[in-house]
Amino acid sequence: MSKRITCGLCKHKCAGKTGKNAYYACPGRRGDEVSKCAAPYFPADKIDAIVWKWVRGFFEDEEFLREAIADYQRRQADMVKPLLDERDSIDRSIAEKEQDLADNQKALKLLGENPPQRTLAKILSDLELIEAQLDGLEKLQQEMDKRIEIATTQARNIQAALDWFRQLKADLGEALDLADVTFTDRRFLIERLNVEAILYVENGQKMVETRCYLGEQTFLLSDSSLAIVGGLISS
Ligand SMILES: [Zn+2]
Repeated sequence: MSKRITCGLCKHKCAGKTGKNAYYACPGRRGDEVSKCAAPYFPADKIDAIVWKWVRGFFEDEEFLREAIADYQRRQADMVKPLLDERDSIDRSIAEKEQDLADNQKALKLLGENPPQRTLAKILSDLELIEAQLDGLEKLQQEMDKRIEIATTQARNIQAALDWFRQLKADLGEALDLADVTFTDRRFLIERLNVEAILYVENGQKMVETRCYLGEQTFLLSDSSLAIVGGLISS
């Protein structure tokens, strides 16, 4: 989990120390007296258990899973729609500018051997401007494509996690016990759902906030029952 754990105090990614009494530590702790991060060590076994129990929870209650996915898909659609609209509008602007470019190039050709200097200068400066505008629009288009790609990758990852679950269920049926799934399966789910944890201290209590595509939740670390502090946030 270590690459997916963030220090809530200074936002550094926490490093995991493995072995007996494994823990997560903020690398900011090593700074000088003034700037160093005050985050304490967090027991890795406990954090990992909380995170996995939480992720498992999505798959143990199918009704809950369905709702979480439907909710995710709504948020996803809300997010992707404006991106696609913007991409369309960029495409239209590019088409217009390309038409302008073609018109001006045609006008340039029609000028003949000895064109009036003012007309020539006007056309050339227009061409330069249009090309600069086209460059800008094409950059925008690429950025937008990247954002759309990221958004759709998330959807594909969720689908992969869901397929994994359905397959496992088909294979194991009633015998399915998520508490027993292999480390590789856990890692697969954690990656596909983009699970992350933020560690921090509040009122002297160690806390862990878990997040993934399907929701987020806050846990109190000291409580052995792994009490849920905050509810599922659906936005
Ligand atoms: Zn820190």
